[in-house]
Amino acid sequence: MSGVLKKLAKALSKNEIEIVDLTQTLHPGTPVIQLPPNFAPSAPFSMSEISRYDDRGPAWYWNNLAMGEHTGTHFDAPIHWISGKDLKDGATDTVRPQRFMAPACVIDCSKDAAKDEKFLLTPKHILAWEKEHGTIPKGAWVLMRTDWSKRTDPAKFLNMKEDGPHVPGPNADAVRLLAEERDVNGWGVEAVGTDAGQAFAFEPPFPAHALMHGSNKFGLASLCNLDRLPPTGAMIIAAPLKIQNGSGSPLRVIALVDRSDD
Ligand code: MN
Repeated sequence: MSGVLKKLAKALSKNEIEIVDLTQTLHPGTPVIQLPPNFAPSAPFSMSEISRYDDRGPAWYWNNLAMGEHTGTHFDAPIHWISGKDLKDGATDTVRPQRFMAPACVIDCSKDAAKDEKFLLTPKHILAWEKEHGTIPKGAWVLMRTDWSKRTDPAKFLNMKEDGPHVPGPNADAVRLLAEERDVNGWGVEAVGTDAGQAFAFEPPFPAHALMHGSNKFGLASLCNLDRLPPTGAMIIAAPLKIQNGSGSPLRVIALVDRSDD
């Protein structure tokens, strides 16, 4: 059989490729990032019925939706941060669609995060991962597995304490290595945001936003099922809604995993 897409279609039909859904279900209880009270808050997800096979619309069911762009499993576009604000291809409608499909490197930090809720991924961890799995290729997604998505209680998921959230994430040097030296497509996490809970105190503050978006890289937050991905080889499809001048959007993130050897 010739043609890579024909081969792909055949592999899909024979279940040689597993589709893993990395997306959390959106619902009114979906946890939303909490900012200090001096900043404007993001609206939670809400849904109101337009009609449901009734006198408002006898044969159809549909809803109106409201939410912040950064709600649930969502995409951070480069213009989300001030460091990326002038990027011509940095909004949800101007991002080059070639970047919606990219391979994933999954760094398993689940044991570290279980021991330390404020675990920080550093260049040392990335280099150790690369020693085992090879250098992170240019244009790949780097996904931090923490099993944080298994925290189904929103309070435990946000994990807000007196000194701010206790949530794992990358330190500034790790982000710098990925954005500037590895030239990744973006950085994805299971937590509510791409930065560590204490990243407001980092230098620069919020490096997974400031450095990644300043380098025209993307973010993915509130991912799940990262424990079902291999360390390398999965292909991620992550295409945000085409919102004019959007800073991000909820989206369905799926991974293609090669099962042809199983
Ligand atoms: Mn976001």
